[in-house]
Amino acid sequence: MLYALNNVTNGDKIEATPKAEGFCPECNQTMVPKCGDIKIWHWAHRQNLKHNCDYGGETEWHLDWKKRVNKKELVEVKKGNHRADIVTRDDTVIELQHSSIDTRTILDREEAYNKIVWILHSDRNSIRFRLKEYGYSFYWVYARRSFGISSAPIILDFVSEREIPYNYNAPLFIIRKQHQDGGRNSSQWRGWGKMVSRKYIVDAIINNVNFISTVIYNPDKPKNEELKMLHIPV
Ligand SMILES: [Zn+2]
Repeated sequence: MLYALNNVTNGDKIEATPKAEGFCPECNQTMVPKCGDIKIWHWAHRQNLKHNCDYGGETEWHLDWKKRVNKKELVEVKKGNHRADIVTRDDTVIELQHSSIDTRTILDREEAYNKIVWILHSDRNSIRFRLKEYGYSFYWVYARRSFGISSAPIILDFVSEREIPYNYNAPLFIIRKQHQDGGRNSSQWRGWGKMVSRKYIVDAIINNVNFISTVIYNPDKPKNEELKMLHIPV
């Protein structure tokens, strides 16, 4: 986690710094600041207490997103029973998903929140794009099938674990529509969407008060220079 609390009751969120003392906002245990040279500074549970609390313990990819936003009021915010990764200024919950999750969890989250957007850490080789007038059409070479049931907007992030620190201008793909070709037993998913940069989404999370309506449903059309910069093969 990016923020621990400086006090068990009504504590303020604090970032991990060497020798700082902090408490887990979920289980109140004392947290250990992890302030090394390689990973983004974060808080971790003590090894032997880990089994008591499953909050935190994210990948570098999660931490990178949260650190880019780096606003206490928007990152790791308690919403109902769950602590959301990021909440935008129009109260849209953004859930960062690195590994696959079961359909029950997806549906539970989507039912719990009025507005939710998934950002999925995806393999660039799992999808093929074709440039169109309106954006990009795509089909999955291999899809994350559990998200087929999702009715929430999905953003795909293709940054590779090998390129840390992640390129701020790397492309993200906003899926606008997808459907299964050839009925429910088919594994072929296709659809269309828009390409934007990580920077575009991070800036929008921080500043845009109409995130879901303007960024997700009506993203600015990327200009030619931006498309070149994004290195999207067509
Ligand atoms: Zn905890």
